Amino acid sequence: MANEKESTMIRFRCPACGEEITAMVKLKKKGLTTVSILHGEPKHVLVLYIDNRGVIRGYEVISEIIEIGTPFLKEFASAIGEKALAILLYAALSEKKVFPDISDKELLRAFYALVQELGISNIVVNSAEKASLVFNPTTLKGPEINLSALVKIVKEGLEKSKSGKGFAIYLRMNIVRLKEALFKLKQKIEKNEQVDPRKFINEVKITREELLLIASVLKEKGYSVDRVLLPEFRIISVFK
Ligand SMILES: [Zn+2]
Repeated sequence: MANEKESTMIRFRCPACGEEITAMVKLKKKGLTTVSILHGEPKHVLVLYIDNRGVIRGYEVISEIIEIGTPFLKEFASAIGEKALAILLYAALSEKKVFPDISDKELLRAFYALVQELGISNIVVNSAEKASLVFNPTTLKGPEINLSALVKIVKEGLEKSKSGKGFAIYLRMNIVRLKEALFKLKQKIEKNEQVDPRKFINEVKITREELLLIASVLKEKGYSVDRVLLPEFRIISVFK
């Protein structure tokens, strides 16, 4: 019976933040019991060493808290997958309103952190009705167009960047580059200007695959892309 524990109420003031704390602790019958109490803002841990009569014999304050439950940006990105991220980039490019269909709270929080970092939080809406794209990283239902150029950007970003921040910056840079190219192509369509794909690719610094992508996005928006692009670049509507 010597090691049987029973609850004892202890009341004390945290030496670090001054908060008055009341806690129930199970004290060992012999020797010191170690108790850690996570509290306060910013969060810190107060470690107490309490003897068998409930007297605090010593303490330690730990302010360096690492929460494993919070995914880092890059880890989150690899967790939801390249295709899911490509769909997000597509939403950014086409400026479609996105509704995150994510029930896991932790994952949803990571999603909001990501769109914030990508500078696309303005396209996120809070109901499926207001959205033209429901983002679900599990079902991966994307648009009916080929996103391989975006998957490539995501893969390169994951390889090249060392931190989550660096990864976000890489993606952001590419969103801007593709948006500029899309805008220029749109202008040419509006002016009914013939586009020489090779020249255009060099001019706006995109790849052939990326030209097909932005052309598809514009076509989806109702622009007559086929009228200005050379036949070899016309979009075959069945490709996915
Ligand atoms: Zn405290």
